[in-house]
Amino acid sequence: MLSLEFYRHLPKKECRECGYEIEEQHESYLYECERCIGKHEES
Ligand SMILES: [Zn+2]
Repeated sequence: MLSLEFYRHLPKKECRECGYEIEEQHESYLYECERCIGKHEES
């Protein structure tokens, strides 16, 4: 059903780290916003 597919791809995703709303620009493996991801890669 197309409607179910749609809801699986809701544009609103929240960062699991800080709750910041993630703009959909990557695939669904992203669970964190750019800032939190940047922290991980900062070392
Ligand atoms: Zn975040």
